[in-house]
Amino acid sequence: MAALGGRGPVAAALLRRGPAPGLRPVPRRYRYKKKWAATAPRIPCTRLALHHFDVNYSLQLKDLWPSVRASLLCEQKYGALLNNFCVHDYVTQELELMNATDFVSEGSKKAQRGAAAEVRREGSRSQEGPGNVGTVMQTETQAETSPPLCASISSNIKCYTYPRGDITRFRPARQDSLGLLDYYLMDASSLLPVLALNVQQGDLVLDLCAAPGGKTLALLQTGLCGHLAANDVSISRTKRLYSILNSYVPQSIKETVSVTSYDGRDWEQLEGGTFHKVLVDVPCTTDRHSVIEEENNIFHRRRTKERQMVPMLQLQLLMAGILATKPGGRVVYSTCSLSSLQNECVIERAVDIAETQFNISVHVEDLSHFRTLFQDTFSFFSDCRLGELVLPHLTANFGPMYFCRLRRV
Ligand code: SAM
Repeated sequence: MAALGGRGPVAAALLRRGPAPGLRPVPRRYRYKKKWAATAPRIPCTRLALHHFDVNYSLQLKDLWPSVRASLLCEQKYGALLNNFCVHDYVTQELELMNATDFVSEGSKKAQRGAAAEVRREGSRSQEGPGNVGTVMQTETQAETSPPLCASISSNIKCYTYPRGDITRFRPARQDSLGLLDYYLMDASSLLPVLALNVQQGDLVLDLCAAPGGKTLALLQTGLCGHLAANDVSISRTKRLYSILNSYVPQSIKETVSVTSYDGRDWEQLEGGTFHKVLVDVPCTTDRHSVIEEENNIFHRRRTKERQMVPMLQLQLLMAGILATKPGGRVVYSTCSLSSLQNECVIERAVDIAETQFNISVHVEDLSHFRTLFQDTFSFFSDCRLGELVLPHLTANFGPMYFCRLRRV
């Protein structure tokens, strides 16, 4: 008691009666100290991601960032990629009744109208006589530099979207009589890199980072691939790719696809310079996922190093893609991030390294016609230094999707 003297009579009384219920000391062996530092992140990953984006994208996108930010936090829009291997007359009718349209064929029609108008203008200029030589020469130069509109759109791919501002959801896919699903729901902007690849009849195509397989399926929908090599380093994600192939593609077509699980960075050692077309759809900060989902979030503290290494991994994969392409072939690089460090900067570095270290000349091709053709469906960023970027917008909440096409000379 003498020891408690200094704490006063209340403490002494409490000790005499024993501690009040609920204040009883917990036996030592049951004591549990929460180890916050090791088990739970102090700040949710989604908040860390948003903070990171606020700092970086407000500089990059300036006044556009608040609207893009709001869109990233809202429900994203989907498109229905029709499965050409399935009888789908009834599906198109159903979708059209719901006011959905095939954005790819709308773009193709626009391209054809544009090309016809250009021919008419050319005709009337040449009739005007030699006084207009300057104008004719200027048009010829424009025609040489601007990409052929019609040629760049594969009309076999059909993807239905609802009009701007319409946030109707698609019903889940249904099986046809052969057990194949009628459509695949995906972010419709994910088709733009596939369209940019512009697969031609018999092309040997490599999809270097293919899983879970949305773009692989779209490549097969062109019906043009001579052979498609679909690779992804992740075995578990490759299983999802197999499951998509099994649900959407008949056996005869699956035989034209080889699925592998190599590290794409080593592809050159396997098959260098063999493909006409290579899609390099790299891992990235998956901006929309990062601000919405805690699970598998790259902004988790434990993944900081991995996140910092993302641009390096992207560069290595793009280099492998360039080296896998035949001279004259094309590579499309894509990400679902807004970050210029993961987009334009990776392209610039790859072009430089190809030239200086491999003596390979690579040209970045103009895809600005995609903006003209698909502006009714997607909101494009108009200030991309290289390639094209779809910005999420509340009335057209697709993306982000960056894509850039390179030609190995
Ligand atoms: N193209 C896919 C689609 O449309 O469904 C999405 C690809 S996802 C953006 C990126 C993929 O890259 C992931 O599936 C990941 O497993 C894969 N990946 C990451 N590192 C890789 C590497 N070193 N080699 C090959 N694939 C890799």
